Amino acid sequence: MIAGALVAVTALGGTAIWASGRPAAPAGSTPASTHPAPAHPDTGSGRPAGLGDDPLTHGQLDALTNVTAEVGPACNPDVGLGRLVGVRLATPGLLTAAVLLLLGTVARDSVPVARPGPLPPAAVSAVPVAAAPSAGPSVSPSPSPTFHDGDGPVGSFLTTKSQAVALTFDDGPDPINTPKLLELLRERHIHATFCMVGFRVRDRPDLVRAIYADGHTLCNHSWQHLLNLAQRDEAYLDWDLKHTNEMIRAAVGTDVPIRYFRAPGGNFTPALVAKARSLGMDSIYWDVDPRDWEHTHDSGASAHISRVVSEVKSHTRPGSIVLSHDNGQPNTITAYQQLLPWLQERFTLEGLPTSGL
Ligand SMILES: [Zn+2]
Repeated sequence: MIAGALVAVTALGGTAIWASGRPAAPAGSTPASTHPAPAHPDTGSGRPAGLGDDPLTHGQLDALTNVTAEVGPACNPDVGLGRLVGVRLATPGLLTAAVLLLLGTVARDSVPVARPGPLPPAAVSAVPVAAAPSAGPSVSPSPSPTFHDGDGPVGSFLTTKSQAVALTFDDGPDPINTPKLLELLRERHIHATFCMVGFRVRDRPDLVRAIYADGHTLCNHSWQHLLNLAQRDEAYLDWDLKHTNEMIRAAVGTDVPIRYFRAPGGNFTPALVAKARSLGMDSIYWDVDPRDWEHTHDSGASAHISRVVSEVKSHTRPGSIVLSHDNGQPNTITAYQQLLPWLQERFTLEGLPTSGL
């Protein structure tokens, strides 16, 4: 899997090597109907469901989803920055500096892709429309969000900056697992943070409303979970993050705060963090990663669940941000049946503050 990774980083003895993966196909070069696309890791289909209103051509989408399939599903930190900084940030100094420098290079030298076109009608219709100025009493504008540099990669946040532990669930909403997880959390009056993928938000706004109604914190996890999102140009990043927020707000209301962004795979770059910040969002990483998406080393579901439980119990500390996945990971839900009582006995569990970190 690593050999085909879009971005692979090796840093040994101060040497860093970057390898670019398959570039995106030129616009329209791969008609979608000429061959069956490989199964997408998140949807099981050749193309993520509901990409019809994406500004990319089908050829580009095929190329992108192929790349995504190669580097792995979910918030897979197998490649890129996520793997390097890892759970315990063993070598955060020179290594991180080298990575940041190189990330800037990669961002500038990103693979050529077509700039996104105008927002499609569906997106336009979901854009909150600002009220026209009126001649009535003036209203003070809302204060701008206050941002602080985080303690993680590129200024993202590894921890909650408090004693509270934040459970974060990524890649949903999932029609099967998200309702089960919500029920578990509701039974114990626990609030968490849901980092959601835009096209799944569009497909299941009812689940987004359920998440919000239960008091959980909302987080933007990009429109279609491209692990190479950082290589896209500024116009695409702007479209992607805005469109995802618009879709969340179309489900729950235009005034709902979305103060957090998590890059797919944790592959943050300065450009991504800056874009998120320009849209009012802190970038969140994690300091506990049970790798609940990784099944290859476990012999069966029970072994997998035991490993996830053990990892979370071993590494969670006051202030931890714990990464897990509700989308497509039924074993994770089972693991949290065991974990929630254990965690609740030892920590204060909270959704990330909707005022930002
Ligand atoms: Zn993810």
